[in-house]
Amino acid sequence: SLTIFDNSVPMAVFPAYLEDTRQASNRLFSVVDEEPPAPKIGTIERDDTFSIELKDVTFMYPGETRTALQNVSISIPAGSKTAIVGPSGSGKSTVMQLLLDMYTVNAGTILLDGNSIREIQAENIWSKTNVVLQANHFFYGTVRDNLQIARERLKDEEMKDVLRLVELPFTLDDPVLEKAENLSGGEKQRLAIARVLLKRAPVWLLDEPSSSLDVLTEQRIFDHLHEAAHKDTLVLVSHRLTGLEKMDQIVVMEHGHVVEAGTFNELMERKGYFYEMKQIEKSLLS
Ligand code: ATP
Repeated sequence: SLTIFDNSVPMAVFPAYLEDTRQASNRLFSVVDEEPPAPKIGTIERDDTFSIELKDVTFMYPGETRTALQNVSISIPAGSKTAIVGPSGSGKSTVMQLLLDMYTVNAGTILLDGNSIREIQAENIWSKTNVVLQANHFFYGTVRDNLQIARERLKDEEMKDVLRLVELPFTLDDPVLEKAENLSGGEKQRLAIARVLLKRAPVWLLDEPSSSLDVLTEQRIFDHLHEAAHKDTLVLVSHRLTGLEKMDQIVVMEHGHVVEAGTFNELMERKGYFYEMKQIEKSLLS
């Protein structure tokens, strides 16, 4: 079944109001004044889910002598939700770029659904993934033009619903300049999120998709992404440690190594790196 949006806005039940017309009109006006509720993103049931596996991956950027990743193994079961966290420069974005086959590893293998990504055409990887990277691709045109590339035969209504979901007050005809330089960092991120919410491919690779947003907006938008990903495989790079309780696995990286992996509760109980990072975040936020 394919239900993308559930637009059912609960409407006033008129017969009940007819008993008292004054009350009816008051209620009606308050209904009209209220913002319509945000559309709910539906779920897609599909047969194709993909596991992802990095096996003992070592990688150096071309021309570099330092390894960006050293013997990294991460196992991501099909349909699971994984967060990769760790300090700046620890290798999180590098993992994402390798998953998209943007570079070739120096040692080890990366498997998508059990097949080495070396044997999968790059276009096939991109067509199966919803990608939000730190720099996203936008082009000169309108908001509609930049969203429409997500999927064929997209209706305006679907695009408008998604704009509301990511809390962007844009119309579809609003202009977007080259590289979206007329939009703020947070607006660009939300436009990129809107696009992946419309694309709905079975693998989600999200590299700090909402880092420029305030904590509460980020949490709301991440909840939409998590819900939309449903039974898909999702990998999220996050510099914030809040809201990770619902992830199946948190992978902690430092200096190009995986130093810890487990669920939120497991890592908190272990009182290792993640626990320490969490204490620091707490003291900074309080
Ligand atoms: P951040 O949280 O700051 O985004 P990160 O954990 O994503 O950091 P990476 O971007 O994966 O870290 O970087 C890992 C290492 O690889 C760092 O030492 C970085 O300097 C190096 N690096 C990243 N991109 C390149 C590149 N294009 N060329 C050479 N070295 C790079």
